[in-house]
Amino acid sequence: MIDTHAHIYLPEFDEDRTAVIDRAKAVGVSHIILPNVDSDTINNLLKLENSEPDFFHAAMGLHPTSVKSDWENELAIIKTQIDSRSFCAIGEIGIDLYWDKTYLKEQIIVFEKQLEWAINLNLPVIIHVREAFAETLACVKKINCKHLRGVFHSFGGSLTEAETIMKLGGFKLGINGVVTFKNSGLKDYLANIPLEMLVLETDAPYLSPVPFRGKRNEPMYLLQIVEKLTDIYQVTNETIRKKTYENSLQIFNFIH
Ligand SMILES: [Zn+2]
Repeated sequence: MIDTHAHIYLPEFDEDRTAVIDRAKAVGVSHIILPNVDSDTINNLLKLENSEPDFFHAAMGLHPTSVKSDWENELAIIKTQIDSRSFCAIGEIGIDLYWDKTYLKEQIIVFEKQLEWAINLNLPVIIHVREAFAETLACVKKINCKHLRGVFHSFGGSLTEAETIMKLGGFKLGINGVVTFKNSGLKDYLANIPLEMLVLETDAPYLSPVPFRGKRNEPMYLLQIVEKLTDIYQVTNETIRKKTYENSLQIFNFIH
């Protein structure tokens, strides 16, 4: 299995990171993608990737919730990183209007700039959307590039949104603990979306699946997400693992 989205370089894992990694490997996690947040997270992210470069794969980008008055400086720091080496993706990037709408204009500028970098470098994007689907879609469509590919991470939107993403071509839906939540509509309609569209993620330390909801999340809990998908699609556990693995490699071609 590939955890296409985990922030286990964050301080939440400082006490027991090695144990968390060992547990992930023990249940069959073979790769973890580490999306960046902002200038503060770069060092720890790269340090973790460097500790095991065949297992961890760094993505570089500026997260929309970190787009504030100093955004130009933040974006310049990210650009320096992107120019200095190769990454498996540009991420995470996107638009978030849940926490704060003050910087919507700047969020759009930053998102579009990073989409352009991804196209120029032929890299996939890891897109974060929260209460901003229309705005995010408008940016992706404005770029109008057939080669743009990536993941709408932590997908929890409507069937219509899922179908809209499917029509873009080149994009997958990142499915995490949200699919196990009682109050999420996702589990009710997901079977209408082909399994070819899905990749697995945890978004650790956030969004733990049931029965760990509210506790710290970790990559081992991909098991709970796979289990739920087995129910939804009425296929074997092995099929879910194999398909989502292949789907991930269509987007992130980091395994040789
Ligand atoms: Zn994230």
